Order: sequence, then C-alpha cells, then structure tokens
Amino acid sequence: MTENSIETTLGTPAKFLPGIGSLRAEKLAKIGLRTAGDLLFCFPRSYEFPAPPARVDQLREGQSASLVGTIVDAEIVSRTPGKSIFGAVVQNDSGAVRIVFFNQPFRAEQITFDRRVMISGEPKLNGLRWEFVHPKVTLLEDDGEIKKPRILPIYPLTEGVKQNEMRHYVSAAIDGLCETLTEVLPVDLRDQATAALRAAEIDLRLPLPDICTAVRSIHWPADQNDLTAARTRLVFQELLVMQLALAMRRRKLTTDLRSTPLPASAMLDARIINRFPFELTGDQKAAMKDVGRDMGRQFPMNRLLQGDVGSGKTVVAIYAMMLAVGHSHQAVLMAPTEVLARQHFQTLTRMLADSRVRIGLLCGSLTAAERRETLRKTASGEIDLLVGTQALLYGIEFKNLGLCVIDEQHKFGVRQRVQLRSGGVDPHYLVMSATPIPRSVAMTIFGDVDLTTLREKPPGRGSVNTYLGRDEWRDRWWTFVKKQLDEGRQAFIVAPRVSAQASPTQDDVDVPDEDSATDEDVSSVETVYEELRTGTLAKYQVGLLHGRLSSEEKRAVMEAFADGETDVLVSTTVIEVGIDVPNATVMTILGAQRFGLAQLHQLRGRVSRGTHAGHVCVFTDGEQSPEEFERLKVLESTSDGFELAEADFKMRGPGDVFGSRQSGMPPLRIADLMNDIDVLQVARDIAQQTIDEDPELSDPKWDALKKQLMRRYGKRLDLGDVA
Ligand code: ADP
Ligand code: MG
Repeated sequence: MTENSIETTLGTPAKFLPGIGSLRAEKLAKIGLRTAGDLLFCFPRSYEFPAPPARVDQLREGQSASLVGTIVDAEIVSRTPGKSIFGAVVQNDSGAVRIVFFNQPFRAEQITFDRRVMISGEPKLNGLRWEFVHPKVTLLEDDGEIKKPRILPIYPLTEGVKQNEMRHYVSAAIDGLCETLTEVLPVDLRDQATAALRAAEIDLRLPLPDICTAVRSIHWPADQNDLTAARTRLVFQELLVMQLALAMRRRKLTTDLRSTPLPASAMLDARIINRFPFELTGDQKAAMKDVGRDMGRQFPMNRLLQGDVGSGKTVVAIYAMMLAVGHSHQAVLMAPTEVLARQHFQTLTRMLADSRVRIGLLCGSLTAAERRETLRKTASGEIDLLVGTQALLYGIEFKNLGLCVIDEQHKFGVRQRVQLRSGGVDPHYLVMSATPIPRSVAMTIFGDVDLTTLREKPPGRGSVNTYLGRDEWRDRWWTFVKKQLDEGRQAFIVAPRVSAQASPTQDDVDVPDEDSATDEDVSSVETVYEELRTGTLAKYQVGLLHGRLSSEEKRAVMEAFADGETDVLVSTTVIEVGIDVPNATVMTILGAQRFGLAQLHQLRGRVSRGTHAGHVCVFTDGEQSPEEFERLKVLESTSDGFELAEADFKMRGPGDVFGSRQSGMPPLRIADLMNDIDVLQVARDIAQQTIDEDPELSDPKWDALKKQLMRRYGKRLDLGDVA
C-alpha cells in the first residue's frame, strides 16, 4: 500500500497531505499543527474582505481600491526582454484607468480586448489618468455576471510559512477530510438552536449549517452571511459541549452525593436573625433564603455568594453556620489568610458571646499542644464552629460536619472542590467571593455552581473617593494623608512585592493542588516602610505587614493597627482580603500597574468600612503607558465592582482574571467569552433542557456529541460514570 492510498483521517500527519512534506511539516509543528485535523481546525484569525468596486472619480492616490470594467485597449508597449511592458485600459461608466505590467508579457494572453475584469491595487495619478501598476486582476464571467472576489482567510502563521502556503495546506486538509467529519449536532438540534439564536437577536441570516459546510465556510466563506452562520455553528457547538458537561456535572452532584438536610425554619431564622445588631438588606435576606433552601436538601449546597467588599457576606455565612449548629451539626469557616481567620474568629466570638455555641480557631501560630487540643475537640464534637486557614483544615476529622464556608475565594473553579467528608456524607458548601464574576465567566468556569449576588450595600457605609495619582501630586497627597492622621484617622499604604508574579506565601493563600508558592520578595515594601518611617511619616507610628512575617508577628501587627496603636500600616496585598478597621480612611497604593483592577478595587474596599468617607490614591511607578493609564482610569470612574470586573475581563481576558490554570476548563478554540455571551446563554439553555430530558444523553442520536463531550470534559469534570 502506498502512502497516497491511505485514507486521510483527522490523525493523518500533516506531512502526508499534498504539497506539505517533512520540512514544512516541521515548521507547522512549531505552531502546534501536526495533523490534518489540526490544520482543519486551525481557524482563520481574521479575513481579508475585498473592497467593494469603486468609481473612477472616487479613487484616491495611495488608497487601495477595486474597479470593475471592460478592457478597451491592450497592447505590449515594449518587447525588450527584461524590459517588456504590457499596458491596458479598463473602462466603465465612471471613466477609464490604465493598468501596467512590467516584464509579464504573458498578461497579454489573459487581458484581452473586451474582457470584463475586476482590478484591485493602489492607484497613482499619471498625468491626467489613473494608473494601477501590477494590480490584481480577476477575470469576470462573460455574461456580465460579476463573479464575486473571495473573502480570504488569514491564518496565524509560523516563521517560514507564508499566508498563501497556509491557505493551500488548509484547503488540502478540507478536501481530504471534510466529508468524513462526524456530525455531532443532529439536524433538529441545529434547527432548534437556529431559532433560539435568532430569538436572542443574533443576526443569523442562514440556518446553522452541518459540520462539513461549517468547516468549509469558516475557511472559505462565500460571503458575510455564510461566514456568520459557519462561525456561529462552531461557537455554538463548542459552548454547547461545555454546557452539557456542566449540566451533567450539576446533575451528578445532586444525585451522587448525599448531605444531611439542615433546613431553615421560622423558629431557627428568628433566633439567628435576632442576633444581628442591624436590619438586614434585601439582598442579604434573599441570600439567606437561597441558602436555607439549599441546605434543606439531601444533596450538598454548592453556592457561590458574591458581593462587593463590604456588602455584608459574612452575615449570610453566619446565618448558614447557625443553621448547621441549630441542627446540631458542625460548621467550618475557611479563610485564605491567618489574619482573616482571626478576624472571623473574633467577629463570631463577639456575636455569639451569650450563646452556647463553641468556637475554635485553627491557624499557624498555635502551639503544637493547642493544635492537638483543637483537633481533638473538633473530632469529638466539643467544637461547633471551627475557623481556620484553609491549609490547616484539609483532611482533619470532624464529628458531624454539616457545612463548609470558604471565604474570599477567587480561585475557585470547577476543578477545585474541597473534599471534606464526615460520616460518609458531604457537607453543604458556601463559597464567598468579593471579586465579582462577569456573567460569561459565571456561566463557564463557575458553571456548575449556583450563584447569589449581593448588590445592595448595607446602609451607612462610607463611600470611597479614588484618585489616579500623578507624580507631581505626591507631596500634596502626603500632606492630605498627614491631615487625616492628625484628625485621628488611620492610613494604609500598599506596596507591591517586587517579584513580578503575585505568588502568595504559604500562609497567605493556601489552596491545595496549586503550584507551590514561592517566597515573597519583600524588598519593595520594606524600602517604602523605611523611607516613610524615617521621612514623610516620621511623626507617626508606622507598622509593617507582609507575608514573610511569622503568624505571630502578623497578628501582633494587625492587632496594633486595629487597636489604633499604629497610625499607619505599610503592607503588601495581604490586607486585600477582608480586613476590617473602620477608622482607616486613607489608602495609598504604590506600583499600581502591577495589580489587576479587581484587586485594586478589593484594596480600596478596606477604607470604606466606617462612617468616614474613604480616600484612595493610586500611584504607578516608572514610565506609565497610555494603556496603563486608561486601565487605571476605570477605577477612578466607577465604584461598581461588577463594572470593574467586566472591564478587567475585557482588558486582560478571563485567564488573567481567574488564572486559567485554576479554572479547570480547557481553552476555547473559537468561542470568545466576551463577544459570544449571547450564544453562550442559548447554549446553556439548550444544554440544560437537553440534560433535563435525557440526563445521561442515552438516546443514540447523542452518541457522537456525548463522545466529544467526554473526551473534552469527562476527566476534568469527573463525569466518569455517566459515560
Ligand atoms: P464583606 O462582604 O466584605 O465580607 P462584611 O460581611 O465583612 O462584608 O460586612 C462589612 C461590615 O458591614 C461589617 O462590619 C458588618 O458588620 C456590616 N454589616 C453587614 N450587614 C449589615 C447591614 N445589613 N446593616 C449594617 N451593617 C451591616
Ligand atoms: Mg468578608
């Protein structure tokens, strides 16, 4: 059998495709194109659209244009070898132009008297007449019908492969493979999707095509409508497969896992809510309703509570924990840092002072004996509520854990499910995040989670004024800071770590299953501290907080600041999460270009905790690029965390905002979460409906779709036994 007689399949190495060969195959491999299938699914990054034909009187020097007309004159002006010149005149009702070719005598054979042509190129005025030198010439049909010039695909390229070659290779893959592609979307599903997409006001003139048409047209679209239909189909397919997987996973979590129902009741509610020293906001009440309903079921709650800094998420968490305790079950509250764990411990201790609830704290600064004692009490049930840093809570033994609350979790995604089981049942989960999630991300990375949002802020919260600092303001700003300090307020100063990667130390954030954290470089924050302490702020008590301090040291620094012993706290972003010092009203952020908008927003939330208005000034160091300035300007213009999250998402992409590695989802090939949000919504609706009707996709018509789904998501989403 010769190579040529082997049927091309998706896995056929690229070198066996016509015209490729080993050498070019090596170049293609550099951009990850190894097989015929890789080429087929290497979608154009953009397209070159032919310019619509112009009129002669619209031509502009140096501006590319196309013109349709008839050849009225064509002659070889000079035949000297090496110096031959061929010229012709193209005429239409708007005038005539001249076209010229040097050393291409063969042109005379194509471009003949009376032919209809379309020419494109850059016109130049030669005397009184427009001239195109070496234009692209397309011969048009004789019957006067204009054969449309093609939309050309533009591919991402590797060194040494030209656009034209790439078009050729991809075409070879299309010819060899297209007809053999398996259709995963049955025709009635495509029709259903077409109708739903149109109902969602997506401009889809043609129905979603079959896979072969879609693949052909994404590379070589006949026109814009054809391209839109092809692209929409492929985007829809990609998102549908993902949404089906997520819907299956949601379903699996509810059918495979068992939890103890810990339902809300009027009596419990009254008892819990009476403890809060304030009127709950409407959003808090609604969130508690969600939580109470979820916890009443015999499968685990899996809810994400998101709300801006200061929106009062902790109160909802306390409600959930008290529900568990009210049903004689234990609850655990996990915080990302020790500082925050301690703060929660204190809040809980204060709020539950006159109750019988026994609260424990597990964190790095305990002595070995204290730690042992806490573990023992947790296992025996002598502790009802355990607060601690995440790292320390994994794998410990509970008597009867009913609820797990995870605070300030930004990196929570489908892959990371905390595994805390006790007595053969799973606890309910409530995850809290102050990083608002853009809608598309909520539907994808967080797609298997139920979402509650606190939008409303508790009344009487201070507002924050944000200023984008310019270098020439620095002195004025420090004067302002000192004035606030003299009035009895306190100030934060945030400096970045020097290492470019914001890699938290063990104690800052500890999520298992992540790459191990590297040491924090504290030289920047230490320099700032020394400079301020001995210079500008020499009159005041200045504290220093960073991740390299021991737990004991950190606690001492935080307590000194909270108690007002220090006026100023110089810190890394350790303070980003949840620290509550209502008297702190000014924050100076240095090196702001190193932070994401969401992170900066979190930071400034630290100075809107009290009744005094907060002031934040954001300085960058080094040269500031205009883009950087634009990015930070968004911070100045809005205090809505959701708007910021969307802006961050637009500018940095979902990967950067959430850390794609942590998201647990494979990268998307063609869908764009920012721009395809409407298709995503349609895919989600159809996926949910499909799984509701056929939870395991067992109808044979789903075989191909299910296979694709399992290949892509089966392992990642742990869908094992659905297959
Ligand atoms: P976050 O959502 O940032 O975790 P917290 O739960 O820490 O916010 O709440 C911020 C502050 O607002 C706390 O001091 C809390 O006691 C207070 N708070 C929460 N809910 C209300 C409310 N409904 N009315 C007044 N103050 C509230
Ligand atoms: Mg909080």
